[in-house]
Amino acid sequence: MSKVNPQNLTEFIPVNEPLLGGNERKYLAECIDTGWISSEGPFVQRLEEGVANRVGRKYGVAVCNGSAALDLAVVALKLGAGDEVILPTFTIISCAAAIIRAGATPVVVDSDPNTWNMDVNQVADKITARTRAIMVVHIYGLPVDVDPILRLAEKHGLKIIEDAAELIGQTYKGRPCGGFGDISTLSFYPNKHITTGEGGMVLTDNSSLAERCRSLRNLCFQKKRFVHEELGWNFRMSNVQAALGVAQLERLDGFVARKRETGQRYTELLKNAPGLQLPLTKTAYADNIYWVYGVVLQDHVALDADEAMKRLATQGIGTRPFFWPMHEQPVFRRRGLFANDKHPIAEKLARRGFYLPSGLALSAEQIKKSAAVVLKILE
Ligand SMILES: *Cc1c(COP(=O)(O)O)cnc(C)c1O
Repeated sequence: MSKVNPQNLTEFIPVNEPLLGGNERKYLAECIDTGWISSEGPFVQRLEEGVANRVGRKYGVAVCNGSAALDLAVVALKLGAGDEVILPTFTIISCAAAIIRAGATPVVVDSDPNTWNMDVNQVADKITARTRAIMVVHIYGLPVDVDPILRLAEKHGLKIIEDAAELIGQTYKGRPCGGFGDISTLSFYPNKHITTGEGGMVLTDNSSLAERCRSLRNLCFQKKRFVHEELGWNFRMSNVQAALGVAQLERLDGFVARKRETGQRYTELLKNAPGLQLPLTKTAYADNIYWVYGVVLQDHVALDADEAMKRLATQGIGTRPFFWPMHEQPVFRRRGLFANDKHPIAEKLARRGFYLPSGLALSAEQIKKSAAVVLKILE
């Protein structure tokens, strides 16, 4: 059977392609040879320990994806009805969804126009008598300025959830992302720094929180099997997924170096592009890791992100739009949430921002071609 493709796929540069050339095949073969394919297999614990060790946490709890990790984090911290959780409006829906599904109320803040992370200066004003937690989400390559948030949390007795899905391997003032606050979460989707196909992890230093996450991940089974005191989920990660993750983790340092090299190449090629805001190369507390290479079209450019992405696609360049802000999500507005919210920076990022091919398999040639096409469409 022949397939007809609208594009010549050999020339199309995909927005993401992972690198699977290490021990992945060997460890997968081990799963098959030993018959260990469920969550009971030994790679799961190896991945949990390896990742926890890497980000300086005591406990890791592997789960089926990064969104599930956020659900576990919110419920493990017992956030629920009447509780408010502050988070950035510019993020993936998984963050707000976890809060809402637990019965709590998301309260969002706008982004910093340069780092695109939550504007930490807006957090204090959002704290009310009902605020119970802050969800810190590192976006695209630079970590959130965490210290002021930790100080606020301490002062007001708030919990911190750190969504480090995009930034395993990054540091903030030399301390690993994934190690801040009460609970951190990771994703191992194929566009993340390390992948298990689908997968995620909850990380904490608190043994009872870790225990709670393990129980919630596994339907809240108890000693007397099939009798339950609480409702959990089946969020388990399989040994097959974890086998991939263990092989990927072995190569994390190389992956991070490759991401940085990709980002630096793009910046070098695009630094004089008219009308284009590029990612910051660094802040006072971190060098950009360029999980993805995002660009924002400045106001005077006639194209918006949708039009630019369409033109790039016709030239064989894959892209993705930036996040759409939580306060503009129809599903939340219909529930009466965020009715009076206005967050102009995030609204602009959503309409003017997109990211270029940024995967680990990207070659120097492909970066050059992508940048050249960007320059051409801006002419
Ligand atoms: C990818 C991502 C998630 C969700 O992870 P999945 O594994 O795709 O469910 C959550 N938060 C952020 C910031 C992400 O980038």
